[in-house]
Amino acid sequence: MKMNAEIFAAFSDFCERSGIKRTAQRCAVFAAVYGSRAHPSAEEVFGRVKKTLPTMKLESVYRILGDFHRAGLIKRVHLSGLSRFDSNTSKHAHFVCSKCGKIADIPMPELKLPPSLRGAEEVSMTLGGLCPVCAVRVKSKRA
Ligand SMILES: [Zn+2]
Repeated sequence: MKMNAEIFAAFSDFCERSGIKRTAQRCAVFAAVYGSRAHPSAEEVFGRVKKTLPTMKLESVYRILGDFHRAGLIKRVHLSGLSRFDSNTSKHAHFVCSKCGKIADIPMPELKLPPSLRGAEEVSMTLGGLCPVCAVRVKSKRA
């Protein structure tokens, strides 16, 4: 896990805006999820954070992720049977590769909702199939 100046500046900015106190633990969790396209689970975040903060506890990771979620920094999504954290907070769907498990974001066009449903805030759509890499592998095995 890289802690570069850009991530630290984003973390400082986030703390100031959300009123969350700056700590080394929060900073390490922030670095593990901020800008990540991997949709990590709490355990995966814990594994990354442990590399820089070996004394970190899994409970602390859960608590900090909860704080970040409430502050709107990350979204909680349920994919591949696991609760995961998504740093892309815009409305989007997911594609999950049925072979390698890779998760990709799919931008969603603005939905035309009937007036009675205008209050809808959550979008949850998951598409399955083979990612381009796995599709090529399957094709070349068949040939
Ligand atoms: Zn996503």
